[in-house]
Amino acid sequence: MSLDPPDWPAFRQQAHGMLDDMLNYLEQIRERPLWRPMPDGVRDAFTDQTLPSAASDVATVRDEFLRVIRPFSTGNPHPGFMGWVHGGGTPAGMLAEMLAGGMNANLGGRDHAPIAVERQIVAWMRRLFGFPCNASCLFVTGTSMANLIGVLVARSAALGTEVRSVGIAGCGRPLTAYASEAVHNSLPRALEIAGIGRDALRLVRADQLHRIDTIALGHVIAEDRRRGFTPFLVVGTAGTVDIGAIDPLADLADICARERIWFHVDGACAALAMLAADLAPRLAGIERADSLAFDFHKWGQVPYDAGFVLVRDGELHRATFASPAAYLRAGTRGLAAGSPWPCDYGPDLSRGFRALKTWFTLKTYGADALGRVISGTCGLARYLESRIRQTPELELLAPAQLNIVCFRFRTAEDTDEVNAAIVADLHESGVVAPSTTRIGANLAIRAAIVNHRTEERDIEALLQKTIEFGRSITNGRSLERGLAV
Ligand SMILES: *Cc1c(COP(=O)(O)O)cnc(C)c1O
Repeated sequence: MSLDPPDWPAFRQQAHGMLDDMLNYLEQIRERPLWRPMPDGVRDAFTDQTLPSAASDVATVRDEFLRVIRPFSTGNPHPGFMGWVHGGGTPAGMLAEMLAGGMNANLGGRDHAPIAVERQIVAWMRRLFGFPCNASCLFVTGTSMANLIGVLVARSAALGTEVRSVGIAGCGRPLTAYASEAVHNSLPRALEIAGIGRDALRLVRADQLHRIDTIALGHVIAEDRRRGFTPFLVVGTAGTVDIGAIDPLADLADICARERIWFHVDGACAALAMLAADLAPRLAGIERADSLAFDFHKWGQVPYDAGFVLVRDGELHRATFASPAAYLRAGTRGLAAGSPWPCDYGPDLSRGFRALKTWFTLKTYGADALGRVISGTCGLARYLESRIRQTPELELLAPAQLNIVCFRFRTAEDTDEVNAAIVADLHESGVVAPSTTRIGANLAIRAAIVNHRTEERDIEALLQKTIEFGRSITNGRSLERGLAV
């Protein structure tokens, strides 16, 4: 029984309508609320339904999508979205998703053009980041997975690939890893998953600007060696998740070269600053990483998900994951050719065509425009920072180093509570959506400006609404008392 439409012309009409649904959505994104809470009736519509055993026509399902799904999204395509670190997506990226879905390509391996597309992006990224031509790369879900792959290849470098057979315990050498205290949570998780354990991660002091203290790092490594540990991995962050700090990558590369330790860079937030002429110099040293994890779905604006990992020693990368299986035997001709297959570079066998939306994004907009978007978001962050400095009711909590600004509404009491309530009010307003983080002891409103649609008026809306909600929550207390402290 085929699942193709019995009536193609009718289906085609629905298909064109669905395309318009989403083009309208993107064209009018600014006019809609950024986010709204799902009403109980909508939530219940999901939980009350059982597995549909009978067919519905696509028009009915489309209608349900338009009623209960589309209006209740996270809102990251909206220009007022500044929460967490989310990309905005693009219309061209959206279309590429449809094309990839139609082809239904599986990029685990075999000989076909989709893999050539992925390899083309691999070649572009090697060149962009100054990696050698035998460096390997792989599309993965996100930077979390890319970090995990970096950790696993580093583990092979330290223990040899026999760790794959005998496990960590069989190698009998306690490994230790190093990163600043501002490292992203995906790194300790990667160490957990790799069987090394999160306790093996030494969190090294960071300076005022949240960059790793390299002197302290040297001491911690030396101390671990004295105690019989095997330091195997240093993680540098290019763009910390809380304030966008960039570790001194060249200094870390020097330390790793001297100590013979694997140098991994988590570039989720800022690696693509390489596309912006004014920012690229700040990433100096990234070209010396042994592995680099980043993604195209944040600053790269590619629709979710599009993580990417780059490994200098492609052979070691392959030796960390490749496994012979009779039903996967690569041939020299026919569809089974095209070796090496991407499935030998990571844990996934079946892999979607993430490369296509990235390829379309890079080709349609061009790397220069993406670089201008990236610079532009940093410009908006500087603008926000200067407006906060001029506004007595607001307090800057960390200098904006890149595209992230942390601040708070001043109030005499319950500062954290008030600021958390302001952020929830902002979300419910449907106008702007920053998130929160902690800077030292304080809860901060964190605006991460990533979206290519964000403009100065969105920054103004953030400021105006923050003050409006702050005043109303504190009933004006902030003005009399907060400013005095
Ligand atoms: C977002 C982020 C990650 C995780 O990336 P995902 O693509 O969400 O898995 C890792 N590190 C940093 C610094 C990040 O900002």
